[in-house]
Amino acid sequence: MGMDVFGKAPASEVGEYFRNNVWWWRPLADYILNVHPDLASGCTEWHSNSADGLDAAESVALADALDADLSAGAVDAYQAAYAAEVAALPREACDLCDSTGLRTDQIGKQHSYDKPRDPATGLGGCNGCAGEGTRAPWAASYPFSTENVREFAAFVRASGGFEIC
Ligand SMILES: [Zn+2]
Repeated sequence: MGMDVFGKAPASEVGEYFRNNVWWWRPLADYILNVHPDLASGCTEWHSNSADGLDAAESVALADALDADLSAGAVDAYQAAYAAEVAALPREACDLCDSTGLRTDQIGKQHSYDKPRDPATGLGGCNGCAGEGTRAPWAASYPFSTENVREFAAFVRASGGFEIC
């Protein structure tokens, strides 16, 4: 499951294809939409596999903007702020065990998830929350990194326009 982005007229191999799984794609697309809404506006379906995208001229303009962000340290700053924001989110209740840490439904009983976790073996306890009753927020599953922006910028620059599929 992911986003396959194809260059329409690639100038080099790096412009042929870019892929992020769904977890990586969302924060990357959000960065572009939040920081460069005007440059992104040629594509309205950033979050779907509908083959929407930017044309060649729009792609070069976006690549210029991303490279400028990268050089200025703006992407690093965004990455740090993003990570801090995610880290500050409260842990979420576990619905598999009603936040008890023990899963007492049929599946839970079958796999001994209804017994407290044994720290020595790591066995037992709810499989949704490792027996803790709470789990990391969903937002923690959506990573953002400067390196991912750098790779996408290089793709966009050489893509000759692209389609998100
Ligand atoms: Zn649980």
